[in-house]
Amino acid sequence: MNFIQDGHHLITALNRYHAESENRAVPVIRQQRIRQLHRELNLAGFIKEGGLTGSAFNNFIARYLENTTKLHHPGYLAHQVGAPHPTGALGSLIDGFTNNAMAIYEMGPAAAAIEFFMINYLLEKAGWTPMPEQADKRLSFPHGAGVLTHGGSLANMTALLIARNHLDATIRNDGTPGDLVLLAPESSHYSISKAAGIIGIGESNVIKLPTDSCGRIDIKGLEPAIRTARQTGKRIVALTANACCTGTGLYDPIDDIARFCNENKIWFHVDGAHGASALFSDTHKHRLNGIEKADSFIIDAHKMLRTPTVCAALLVKNAAALDRAFEHTANYLFHDKKQPGFDFISQVIECTKAGLGLKFFMAFAGLGEQKMAHYIDRCFELTRQAYHYINGQPDFFVPCPPQSNILCFRIDGTDERQLAIRDALIASGRYYISSTEMVGQRYLRIVVISPATDIKTIQGLVEQIRKVHQSFSQ
Ligand SMILES: *Cc1c(COP(=O)(O)O)cnc(C)c1O
Repeated sequence: MNFIQDGHHLITALNRYHAESENRAVPVIRQQRIRQLHRELNLAGFIKEGGLTGSAFNNFIARYLENTTKLHHPGYLAHQVGAPHPTGALGSLIDGFTNNAMAIYEMGPAAAAIEFFMINYLLEKAGWTPMPEQADKRLSFPHGAGVLTHGGSLANMTALLIARNHLDATIRNDGTPGDLVLLAPESSHYSISKAAGIIGIGESNVIKLPTDSCGRIDIKGLEPAIRTARQTGKRIVALTANACCTGTGLYDPIDDIARFCNENKIWFHVDGAHGASALFSDTHKHRLNGIEKADSFIIDAHKMLRTPTVCAALLVKNAAALDRAFEHTANYLFHDKKQPGFDFISQVIECTKAGLGLKFFMAFAGLGEQKMAHYIDRCFELTRQAYHYINGQPDFFVPCPPQSNILCFRIDGTDERQLAIRDALIASGRYYISSTEMVGQRYLRIVVISPATDIKTIQGLVEQIRKVHQSFSQ
């Protein structure tokens, strides 16, 4: 193979891809049949013969890029995975090539040092004390800690595992006695109940906290919920809140909940996978007021922070709780050694871990903190404008004003009609939107996350929805 030539071609192709996506020269989404793609990409042939280089490589890349979903396209309004910054994407390439499994420092000093730095950067954003750089100073004073994980679901599970072991240190060895519960709003991301199932709380022991008509935790419901749990002899592992909710983009009242949890000595976990990125915005960080009183929170860098998938951070206020949560026995990895850095391996579920911090850092470093904040502000502001525009249409209904870059709405018609409209939009290749259910009703849902989206995109979307709707009604 010719690495330089193939690499050069690849970067050129990606650069064109970026421009064509932003300029709408290509459809935002195009879904061919899986068999067709197997053939078009010549998968069986390459596996057998190899030779993925030169013109075969170029051809393969062209076919591959044709059949991707274009996150940089202005009509990409469906999901929360963001359009990565090109510098961050180069981080993925470097990490893939160097393959430094940095969970032990000696297997990737640069990657481990960057992860450590990024964790401390996030700890400071939350108002928590960063980790000391010298390993022998760890836990010599109260400070926060954290790890990067392969995604928010794993970060949530890690947080709940720490909370569980904090509640009862014997469980790790003895198993769960069956008296554990978790308190969470119905509107939680499904990874919360999934984690409850995995770590032995049990999905049916997730007590649904009462919410308002927009799915936000109703603070008045907290007291009765814990009273009932405690009267029936249950032990509360944690209370989780959304910052923000995946479906609606709305923030639970973090400050009030934090105060309540502190008073009642309950581990408070904030699922900030999507919306904790508001911490970087002076305009919107007030949504996270009170996060300093939480015990743990997570944030996905691959959503609002222009970082390639996957990269999530789990942060805890009390490093000792994280340290105690995991036990390490692999004696080829855990032994006394002269340690110029820090081994993350004793803090995570994974063993081999990618250098997630590199692409996270590089996305930030490519843009700079101020432009990152500006990007977040712009997405949030555009969503507010979209709200006013859509709310002003007589045939559309918007249930709640947005607090982030996620907006739910519907056009007059049945639930099935909303879904049929979404399917038609996707088939057109012009707009890619999602759909969600809220308080028993089906909504169309947009996430304003592509830097190329503007208010004209939203106006065009509304027009297109109306057109599709009318064509169905004829
Ligand atoms: C996206 C999301 C998750 C899951 O994160 P992954 O990185 O997709 O695993 C969890 N919670 C919330 C609130 C989310 O929006």
